[in-house]
Amino acid sequence: MTDLHRLSIRELAEGLAQAQFSSRELTAHYLKRIEKIDTQVNSYITVTAEQALAQADAADAAIKAGTASTLTGVPIAHKDIFCTQGIKTSAGSKMLDNFISPYDATVVAKGKAAGLVTLGKVNMDEFAMGSTSENPFYGATKNPWNLEHVPGGSSGGSAAVVAADLAPFSTGTDTGGSIRQPASFCGLTGLKPTYGRVSRFGMIAYASSMDQGGPMARSAEDCAYLMNVMAGHDAKDSTSVEKDVDDYVANLNGTAVKGLRIGIPKQYFNVAGLDAEVKARVEESLKKLEDMGAVLVEIDLNMTEAYVPTYYLIAPAEASSNLSRFDGVRYGYRCENPTDILDLYKRSRSEGFGAEVQRRILIGTYALSAGYYDAYYVKAQKVRRLIQQDFLKAFEQVDVIAAPSAPTTAYKIGANLSPTEMYLGDIYTLAVNLAGLPAINAPVGFDQAQLPVGLQLIGNYWSESQLLSVVHQYQQVTDWHTKRAAIAEENA
Ligand code: GLN
Repeated sequence: MTDLHRLSIRELAEGLAQAQFSSRELTAHYLKRIEKIDTQVNSYITVTAEQALAQADAADAAIKAGTASTLTGVPIAHKDIFCTQGIKTSAGSKMLDNFISPYDATVVAKGKAAGLVTLGKVNMDEFAMGSTSENPFYGATKNPWNLEHVPGGSSGGSAAVVAADLAPFSTGTDTGGSIRQPASFCGLTGLKPTYGRVSRFGMIAYASSMDQGGPMARSAEDCAYLMNVMAGHDAKDSTSVEKDVDDYVANLNGTAVKGLRIGIPKQYFNVAGLDAEVKARVEESLKKLEDMGAVLVEIDLNMTEAYVPTYYLIAPAEASSNLSRFDGVRYGYRCENPTDILDLYKRSRSEGFGAEVQRRILIGTYALSAGYYDAYYVKAQKVRRLIQQDFLKAFEQVDVIAAPSAPTTAYKIGANLSPTEMYLGDIYTLAVNLAGLPAINAPVGFDQAQLPVGLQLIGNYWSESQLLSVVHQYQQVTDWHTKRAAIAEENA
């Protein structure tokens, strides 16, 4: 079979279970595609070919023995922020280019237990700080829809591998939009779960109060399969929540779109930087949902202007604290010939971290310093609460809230936006993380340059099933999620 990479997760699971093809065949097929096509996309940092084939053989044996579970033998790519035992885990940084994790992240361990085959680890913005995956050390990942454009970030590699059919689905993380924005830029479905739904154990920390792992794939159905693997309480993550996990696949038709109240925040559609074509595509998708029976309700989210400044104080503050462990002593990169301990710290950190990471550490350290702590950090935390309350008030009126995932389609590589311009591009995603809410991106069309546009649906706490269900039903009557970039049509 030459077109195994065109099958959905359900089709892959069924094909493996019915022995239409083996996991070894499927895994080898993807490895061949990676070898041929990833030279153009630059999505993988590490390809674990040998281990993948061994896992595939074990999966085939389990299928034969009748001990397999639903996804046994299906390949996956992990964002290089998830620790993988015995395999390099770089977090996209020169700092950790030599770091071999002694243990698996819970998400990775759950994947292994479910029989998933790890193809490798994929590129990202350094330490998940950024929106383009133009990585200063591993190079820029390209957008499969147009190789001169970025795939978004920080989970840009996770998006690019799926859009180029170099993995059937992938894991990503979302601290301020890093699943939804690259999903939007690459025409994919990506779910950022409620904070606490997916374990953060073994996920290298950026801003711990907002970091959350989630699935990236072509469709809501594919994402549901991966959520069934990823979600759940974990005693090793104190913020993971002890709450029953839904069967996301079984619930795909569980929410009625008829009568669903979709909130349209007035403030969101008047943002200065909102591209006219993005706006048009998102409005068309909302019209479609309306045709399916949803009711559109105009709502107010009055704190919109505070999202970017609040996030860009809290996230760097937490980053400054989380990244202090990278000191050239205990982990990672160490400078050559340090003259004394101070020189060792200074040079290891300035040589090991890229410019954006250093910028965030500086901003965060400043915001946390004794003289400014109340004025910046404490104030931002208070505003964060107001942002959350704004959403809770809105959810008294509506079931879900609609927004673009990003104000524009994918930027050009090397566009060299100023930090402020770059941060403003996160306007639609940050509040969800500040409030800890779940949200999903669904592809809803293209702009004139044939770059994908995404619709974001934000749900109340623990509404992952509802979000997946609404998008699934939208995808039953539309075909945006089935469109493939030219490079994905190439055969290896
Ligand atoms: N673009 C945002 C940032 O740079 C979000 C990143 C993320 O979600 N990891 O912080």
